Amino acid sequence: MTHWSARSWRDKPIQQQPQYPSAQQLQQVEQQLKSFPPLVFAEEIRALRKQLAQVSLGQGFLLQGGDCAESFSDFTAPKIRDTFKVILQMAIVMTFAGSCPVTKVARMAGQYAKPRSSDTETQDGVELPIYRGDIINGVDFNEGQRIADPQRMLQAYHHSAATLNLLRAFAQGGLADLHKVHKWNMSFVAANPLKEQYLQVAEQIQSALKFMEVLGITSATNATIHETQLFTSHEALLLPYEEALTRTDTLTGLPYDCSAHMVWIGERTRQLDHAHVEFMRGIHNPVGVKIGPTTKPDDVIRLLDVLNPENEAGRMTLITRMGANNLAEALPHLVRKVKAEGRHVVWSSDPMHGNTVKADNGLKTRNFDAIHQELRQFFAVHQAEGTYPGGVHLEMTGEDVTECTGGAYQISEKDLTQRYRTQCDPRLNADQVLELAFLVADSLKE
Ligand code: PEP
Ligand code: MN
Repeated sequence: MTHWSARSWRDKPIQQQPQYPSAQQLQQVEQQLKSFPPLVFAEEIRALRKQLAQVSLGQGFLLQGGDCAESFSDFTAPKIRDTFKVILQMAIVMTFAGSCPVTKVARMAGQYAKPRSSDTETQDGVELPIYRGDIINGVDFNEGQRIADPQRMLQAYHHSAATLNLLRAFAQGGLADLHKVHKWNMSFVAANPLKEQYLQVAEQIQSALKFMEVLGITSATNATIHETQLFTSHEALLLPYEEALTRTDTLTGLPYDCSAHMVWIGERTRQLDHAHVEFMRGIHNPVGVKIGPTTKPDDVIRLLDVLNPENEAGRMTLITRMGANNLAEALPHLVRKVKAEGRHVVWSSDPMHGNTVKADNGLKTRNFDAIHQELRQFFAVHQAEGTYPGGVHLEMTGEDVTECTGGAYQISEKDLTQRYRTQCDPRLNADQVLELAFLVADSLKE
């Protein structure tokens, strides 16, 4: 294998990058970012890798979720808190009802760059560059906003730092205390048909805590009751940003991308000889790769050869996003090959990106039943193949949005316009997430 450096990706072909008007301004921003403190710490990244190694052995479950795209304008404490609560709520259902430790990884604090299927967008005869995420350009349809501006990378860094700061405070400052499990419920979930089932889980946890208190195990004596651990992740799409936040760990001498604990490569940028795979092969973070329905078994093996030549457990998460109609056909071949080759991976299901459709009113949506079906089939395939379904990857929010159709409230295509707030892809709301949590918990128990 040829020499790697944090900038060796620059010698390879690259997809999905913006054209910056000034190379000099871009360089100035890169220099500034390189001088900033890392957002996460290598030791934390190693802790996540250890947890994912356990998951790949069937001893744990990966819950990864958050916005499709975070935004600079919709940046408030309640928004961050509510997504955090939804992740916690889902994790507690899976931990308790599914009897399985859950590793929580948020699609937050850096999920600002988006791959797009077209370079431009046309409205009323006007063609402008496509929106590529707040770290690159603005979502409003006007020429000034759509110009790629490197200063946005600095803004993304500061927004990520503030988000992480709050997430750490929530995780360690008492909000995640198991005694408060009732309060993680969003007020609008109160009418959810699954509320009773959730409250039962909460009751059982309270009884277990009372019993533990009798034994002298309390929040004061045991950190796992009082605190939780939440890792961060995003798609490592904008490589000048990722390179600038890549640091050599003083303890081990190894390079880590310190923009997040886990980073992934999208379905559109995972070409073997291209820049994104080159960048990812050298960093020591846990790495995800999105795997779509046309992926061949050999493609997966070649990616694993490059990204994880030592076949280390905890390094690779394969995130399948096949679509409910394709998964049963497409996944078994891949799973069999990876198993036959003895490769250590976490198999995770993204039931969102293969199930995006356009509603009659033109809005992008996803149907809850399709999401549910892809997830059910994901569990069924792994059961049939004797492999372990290790995680889910969801686009979700704590807000009461109407972006995905279906679910307990039967959101219809007509309802979508009521609270459609996403900057990019449609997200599950807290009610829909709770429904999926019970489905996953049931599948984990089987
Ligand atoms: C995403 O996760 O938002 C995304 C664009 O996914 P994919 O690369 O699987 O299309
Ligand atoms: Mn998306």
